[in-house]
Amino acid sequence: MLDIKFIKTENPKPIPGPENPLVFGTIFTDHMFVMDYTEGQGWHDARIEPYAPISLEPSAMVFHYGQEMFEGLKAYKTEDGRILMFRPDKNIERANNSNRRLMIPEIPEEDFLTALKELVRIEQAWIPTKEGTSLYIRPFVIATDPFLGVRPSYTYKFMIILSPVGAYYPEGLNPVKIWIEDEYVRAVRGGIGEAKTGGNYVASLAAQMKAHEEGYSQVLWLDGVERKYIEEVGAMNIFFKINGTVVTPQLNGSILPGVTRRTCVELCKSWGLPVEERKVSVDELEEAARTGALEEVWGSGTAAVISPVGHLRYENEVFQIGDGGIGELSQKLYDTVTGIQLGKVEDTFGWTVEVK
Ligand SMILES: *Cc1c(COP(=O)(O)O)cnc(C)c1O
Repeated sequence: MLDIKFIKTENPKPIPGPENPLVFGTIFTDHMFVMDYTEGQGWHDARIEPYAPISLEPSAMVFHYGQEMFEGLKAYKTEDGRILMFRPDKNIERANNSNRRLMIPEIPEEDFLTALKELVRIEQAWIPTKEGTSLYIRPFVIATDPFLGVRPSYTYKFMIILSPVGAYYPEGLNPVKIWIEDEYVRAVRGGIGEAKTGGNYVASLAAQMKAHEEGYSQVLWLDGVERKYIEEVGAMNIFFKINGTVVTPQLNGSILPGVTRRTCVELCKSWGLPVEERKVSVDELEEAARTGALEEVWGSGTAAVISPVGHLRYENEVFQIGDGGIGELSQKLYDTVTGIQLGKVEDTFGWTVEVK
C-alpha cells in the first residue's frame, strides 16, 4: 500500500458553515496530496501537506506546452455520517487513459485510490451536508521539467486538491440555455478531445464568451470536421429524449467519456428505456424540435450532475424544449444519481465507495 507522509497544517482555516453559498471552486481545504515523478525512479514521495502555493521554474514545461491532465469527482456525507465517493474507479481509469494520450506516466490505480481516500478522510470535516453541496475532488498532473523544447517531460507532479462546493451553474437544476456553436470547434477525432486536459478548455473559451454575450450559459459543440453532428457541451455530455428514446452521441474519439454519461446510460437501460448511442445530426435535432418529438434535453457531468436544457439556439433559430422547464426523466435521473451519491437510494450497482 502507498506510504503517505502526513504534514499537518499549523494554520487551519475556518470551515464554511451552512450559510455559506459555496460558489463552485472558490474555497480549498487545509491539505493537499502531492507525489513526484522522476524518470528512472517512478512515482515517489507521496505526501499530504498543507494546501499552499507551489514553486516551479518559469521554464516548467506545463506552462509552455500544456502537458497536463486533470480529473473531477465528488465525495458526500450521508445522513448517518458515512463518507461516500462516487465511482472513483472510473475516474482513475480515465485519468490513465488521458495520461497515455498525453505521454504522462500512468499512476498505479491502487495508489491513486489510496491517495483519494486518505485525503478525503483527513479533510472529512470539510464535506458540506446542505442539499446540493458536496466535496469536489480535483486530481491533476503537471509536467515540471525546466525546458523549452517539445518532448514529454521527465518529471511530473501529481496533486489532489479539495473544494467544498454548491451548485456548478447559478441556475442549479433550473434549465439552461444552450448555444450550438457553428463557427469554432473544440476537438477533432485523433486529437485530444477524449482526454481530460486543459487544452480542450482553452480551445472552448472564445465560443463560450460569445455565447455568454448572447445570453447563453453553455456551448454545445458540433464535430470538428463537418460541423454537422452533435458532440458535447464543454464540461458535460449531452442527452436527448426523442419520441421516448434516450439518445446520446456515441463516443467517437473527440468526446470526453463522462462518468455521469455512463451512469445515465446504465440507469435508463435499467429502467427499460430504449437507449441509443449513435451519431445525432443537428438537422435531426432541428426536425425533432419542430415536430415536437424532442421531449427532453439534459447535460450530464460530475459538477452539475444533471443539467436540464430549456432552450437550444442554432444559427438564427431558437428552440424551446418541451415547456422550457425540467423534464420528467431529467428530474428522475437527478434524484436517483444524487440519491445514490448521498446514500438515500439503495446502490444496487455498487457505484459508491466508502471512505473509512
Ligand atoms: C469532465 C468532462 C465531462 C463530464 O464528465 P464526468 O465524468 O461525467 O464528470 C464532459 N465533457 C468534458 C469536456 C469534460 O472535461
